[in-house]
Amino acid sequence: MKVSPEILSLVPYSPGKPISETKREFGLSEVIKLASNECPIGPSEKIMAAMTEALKEVNRYPDGAAFELKAAVSKYLEVRGENLVFGNGSNELIDLLIRVFCRPGDAIMTSEFSFIAYKISAQAASVECIEVPTKGDLQFDLGGMAELLKTTDKIRLVFLPNPNNPTGSYFTMAEFNEFMEVASKKEILVVLDEAYREFVRASDYPDGLNQLRTFKNVVVLRTMSKVFGLAGLRVGALVAPSEVVDLIHRVRNPFNVNSIAQAGVIAALSDTEHLKRVQIITWAGLEQIESYLKRQGLKYLPSQANFVLFDTGRDANSVFQDLLKKGVILRPVGNYGLPTYLRWSVGLHDENETAMKALTEVLSNGPN
Ligand SMILES: *Cc1c(COP(=O)(O)O)cnc(C)c1O
Repeated sequence: MKVSPEILSLVPYSPGKPISETKREFGLSEVIKLASNECPIGPSEKIMAAMTEALKEVNRYPDGAAFELKAAVSKYLEVRGENLVFGNGSNELIDLLIRVFCRPGDAIMTSEFSFIAYKISAQAASVECIEVPTKGDLQFDLGGMAELLKTTDKIRLVFLPNPNNPTGSYFTMAEFNEFMEVASKKEILVVLDEAYREFVRASDYPDGLNQLRTFKNVVVLRTMSKVFGLAGLRVGALVAPSEVVDLIHRVRNPFNVNSIAQAGVIAALSDTEHLKRVQIITWAGLEQIESYLKRQGLKYLPSQANFVLFDTGRDANSVFQDLLKKGVILRPVGNYGLPTYLRWSVGLHDENETAMKALTEVLSNGPN
């Protein structure tokens, strides 16, 4: 059995620790998970009803063309159906983009401390991932990325998560426009990953769907996993020029989005009440968590998403372990090269309170 060195050295993505596992391991009955940037509230009655109805027909294959889903997303995003393709979460679309546009030996570019899925997908396809160092407080250096683009012809795709996970930071319209001058000239495809779009409040944020109308080489990723609270269904959308959409259709699995997920998403998109409720809970929670961190004198990065990255000032893995014993799951980000930081996803008000209390206790024990 011959296996390529890229596959052998691949480190699998480590997801947030599941609630059930934490309960078992520590003998706890109550566990709060604020580790995967999920939505803290479950699906509405309307969404449940739509999915229950769809269950009756699981003997049939799903609609491979996702006709109704496409109509619903098309209306929600105000884009044409021919510019949309869906994935089993946006994670699958990241994989597909790399498969379509890169050959072994080519490269993708992203920033240091950027979402880790790009690097994993690239490595699995024997594609190099070039990470450009951040500047200042873990901010993307789009100027540095533009400079690097000028020096090489290896790069096929640029991945720009905005806001970024795990930092919660964003880059501005001015920074993006300057970067695009170089990327457009070199005809390189730029992927704006906007998983947290609905949480953004910054007025100088470069909205991807607008950029798509301006630049021919921009594509946008959106997901149903965050504000819509459907992470378990696995649905992501790629908005792109129809030529790009056509290429993705050639390589995607014909039934990559299952029928229950299609029904659930269609119902969710018409539920604007839910969307607004989640935004309000999230923005209030961000303020609650950020003001707590400030009070505690813990350094954190201002967030445009539904989580906050903060510095524990010590080995964050031991803080993480101590929090688990108290039934609170946050996310260590050592795999991102940030061994003293934890990422805290916004939960419901009381969940955030419980996490604060636990964190205060753990940190008062001093570094170990
Ligand atoms: C959560 C997240 C996604 C969404 O992934 P899905 O596969 O759609 O659940 C995409 N990009 C970033 C940066 C994320 O943080």
